[in-house]
Amino acid sequence: MLRKFNIKRIFQGRLFKDYEILSEITKFLKENSISSGLISGIGAVTKAKIGYYDQKTRQYITQEFDEPMEILSLKGNISLKDGEPFPHVHVILSRGDFSCIGGHLFEAYVFAFEFEVIETDGTPCERGFDEDTGLFLWKS
Ligand code: ZN
Repeated sequence: MLRKFNIKRIFQGRLFKDYEILSEITKFLKENSISSGLISGIGAVTKAKIGYYDQKTRQYITQEFDEPMEILSLKGNISLKDGEPFPHVHVILSRGDFSCIGGHLFEAYVFAFEFEVIETDGTPCERGFDEDTGLFLWKS
């Protein structure tokens, strides 16, 4: 499956300290009716919850990291899930000893955060349950 889109609008912004990144991005997408596009960001968090999808058990293993970390890279896409704009976001975080952790983003609290949302036009991709993986992947 491959789709071609054109860029419609580009947003750049920041979130203030203590805001939760994923819920604020979701709110922003819904308020601006953005259901197709790309997300990126950098900054720092005070704590985060990230996940690793266990392909055998088909469950996310999640872990919370309650410590200050840099967001080296936050990257994701925007599509529709259950008819609503849905951001799928992954993140690489660096710790005080410069080691990195990363995974599927569940929750992250802002120390500082600068982001871009690139909205694309056309019919958005739509997520549906995928039997092969147990994930909600793009169906169309
Ligand atoms: Zn993911």
